[in-house]
Amino acid sequence: MENLKKELLEAQVGKVLENEPLANHTTMKIGGPADLLIIPKDVDAVKHIMDEVKKHRADWTVIGRGSNLLVLDKGIRGVVLKLGAGLDHLVINDQEITVGGGYSVVRLATSLSKQGLSGLEFAAGIPGSIGGAVYMNAGAHGSDISRILVKARILFEDGSIEWLTNEEMKFSYRTSVLQKERPGIVLEAVFQLKQDDREKITKKMQQNKDYRKETQPYNRPCAGSIFRNPLPEYAGQLVEKANLKGYQIGGARISDMHGNFIVNAGGATAQDVLDLIQYIQTKIKEDYNVDMHTEVEIIGEASE
Ligand SMILES: Cc1cc2nc3c(=O)[nH]c(=O)nc-3n(C[C@H](O)[C@H](O)[C@H](O)COP(=O)(O)OP(=O)(O)OC[C@H]3O[C@@H](n4cnc5c(N)ncnc54)[C@H](O)[C@@H]3O)c2cc1C
Repeated sequence: MENLKKELLEAQVGKVLENEPLANHTTMKIGGPADLLIIPKDVDAVKHIMDEVKKHRADWTVIGRGSNLLVLDKGIRGVVLKLGAGLDHLVINDQEITVGGGYSVVRLATSLSKQGLSGLEFAAGIPGSIGGAVYMNAGAHGSDISRILVKARILFEDGSIEWLTNEEMKFSYRTSVLQKERPGIVLEAVFQLKQDDREKITKKMQQNKDYRKETQPYNRPCAGSIFRNPLPEYAGQLVEKANLKGYQIGGARISDMHGNFIVNAGGATAQDVLDLIQYIQTKIKEDYNVDMHTEVEIIGEASE
């Protein structure tokens, strides 16, 4: 790890932080340290980091804005690449948008609405990066990333870079090919939008945001929906029916506003959240015989 760090520092790949608490990089404000957290300065830097990671046989993880993550208390070994500034280019060519993997989804939705470009209204309140949104096939209000993505440029573990088409991304409910089948890093994405009335788009986005504020603990430290909806059931409704809203373990609490949100009510550890997740899974299985699977990505090492 020392040699890897030295080489990456010398190569000036971006900001390199050692033993960086990931609680500083997740919306839950939870997570132990990364051995090395790197914010790459551009696409070439990402490629260089991955070449070095391969050479040193180090572990690697990519994160965006940490809005769908539960990072465990002992943190993450190896290199964590955080895509943000440096991979936040945006090119608007008529109705086709090319955008960097580190670009903020909310920022993109807002700037496209101002140009009268429709298609990303659903994402107005999704606090992730483009890379995280493509990986998750993020969605809301009956739409998702798969509806607008033309192709995504992916850096794979073997160092190759490929454009994957919408079909090759194998999108379905909150999943893509990147999750298990073909791990890689979303460097950039191309979206196809439609020209429409600016006021109509901004009104729709405002409605979506207002709905969130009314129904979700939007400004509390959380990671969005904890569970995938076990369709046709909705995770939040099952939790509410089981009378679990407001239930708390340590500093982790099931939101009083929405049954599918766990908030860090103050000083929560990842273990508190894990225990609460397991408690909910057991209770819902007992009461309704439904298996609840997490939507939030659980990564890193747990404390013993
Ligand atoms: C208040 C709140 C509301 C939310 N509402 C919604 C919602 O309505 N709909 C919805 O779908 N989600 C929602 N989320 C969850 C979250 O915002 C999305 O899943 C988002 O797409 C995650 O992006 P991120 O950049 O934060 O990814 P992270 O949380 O940083 O990472 C999530 C996963 O994506 C992977 N990843 C991140 N960047 C890349 C990349 N460049 N290349 C490859 N893989 C990458 C990571 O390895 C990880 O496995 C909400 C979250 C919060 C806190």
